[in-house]
Amino acid sequence: MKLLNHAQINELAKFKSQKHFITSAYLDTNKSHQTYKEIKLRLKNLLNRAKTKLGELNLSKEKKESLQEDLSQIEKYLHQNLSSYHHPGLAIFSCARENFWEEFNLPEPPRNRIIFDRNAYVRHLSAILDEHKRIGTLVLDRKEAKLYQVFMDDIKLIEEIRGEVPPKVREGGWEGYESKRIERHIETHLHDYFKICAQKTFNLFQKNQFEWFFLGCKEEYLPIIKEHLHPYLLQRFKGQIKATPNDNEDKTFEEIKNLEKELKEKEKEQLVKQLISEIQKDGLAITGLDSTLDYLNRSAVQSLLVTRYYSQPGYSCPKCHFLYASYTTCPGCQISTQPVLDVIDEAIEMALDKNCEVKHINPPTQLQNYGHIGAFLRFKP
Ligand SMILES: [Zn+2]
Repeated sequence: MKLLNHAQINELAKFKSQKHFITSAYLDTNKSHQTYKEIKLRLKNLLNRAKTKLGELNLSKEKKESLQEDLSQIEKYLHQNLSSYHHPGLAIFSCARENFWEEFNLPEPPRNRIIFDRNAYVRHLSAILDEHKRIGTLVLDRKEAKLYQVFMDDIKLIEEIRGEVPPKVREGGWEGYESKRIERHIETHLHDYFKICAQKTFNLFQKNQFEWFFLGCKEEYLPIIKEHLHPYLLQRFKGQIKATPNDNEDKTFEEIKNLEKELKEKEKEQLVKQLISEIQKDGLAITGLDSTLDYLNRSAVQSLLVTRYYSQPGYSCPKCHFLYASYTTCPGCQISTQPVLDVIDEAIEMALDKNCEVKHINPPTQLQNYGHIGAFLRFKP
């Protein structure tokens, strides 16, 4: 099902079983950066690693068997559906012995993970929701206006307004005076109609609370419609899309998603710039794997920035669970650390456990020149 609101997540978080654990699986099914064959192989490896991990867990036989069934069901589900699945990400929550199964199409690829726990691991779903904006989009021409609301993978037409402003007078079959009078009449008509559009948009904004507002109209209409927009909507106005009321919903949706993506990338790159400038003035920020892990271990990280898909092997201390890029002995505990396949994955998990924000920055990004990873800090210990 589509991920649309926090109520769905709360519902999922409510699921509890006295006897059994629940399996949460986050799967990167994005076909734009990997082939279908690669996806299949990566997910197979993920399931195998989960099986190994499950074998090592100190749980009752019954609990383990239920989790084992979860993995089998997920495997079966992927076998049947993966080839035709077209969303960039998938989240599955399963508790086989309680006949519990829930799946969510994700609008962006997560990192591949499988988590066994008493509760569904929903934090990542919340993070995805929080990252998305509720977007109001007004598309209009002289004849009609349509107001859409977009959130995540969903578009809704929430208002249609008929305009019927007559087309402009092209040449004066009339005397010049008469033609000017008609022109003025048409312009008044246009202003009145745009005013109505702006007013209705504002009414719906108050109800639906768009965080961003887009417009789709001819360049020449832009100043007129902006003139009538409420300041709250002007504040949220983020740009124009190439769409008319005649376009079908799919085309309009695509244009809205493209602009949203562009704006989000800009926002994230801005964050990277902020991080770099903070470092240059020796402020509360850090980059590079060693330093980032060090501050993360000491709970000093406020938000973590990482290049999407960056991964790196590393080490973890079995006693204090600190993460290291290269230490084979934990400096604190003076015991041998254990190798981990992807220390970035572990770092993201640690960050989420410590209630840090995690921002995945799409490459190419300046962050790549700073070791692919960095953080804003709460304090410098
Ligand atoms: Zn240690």
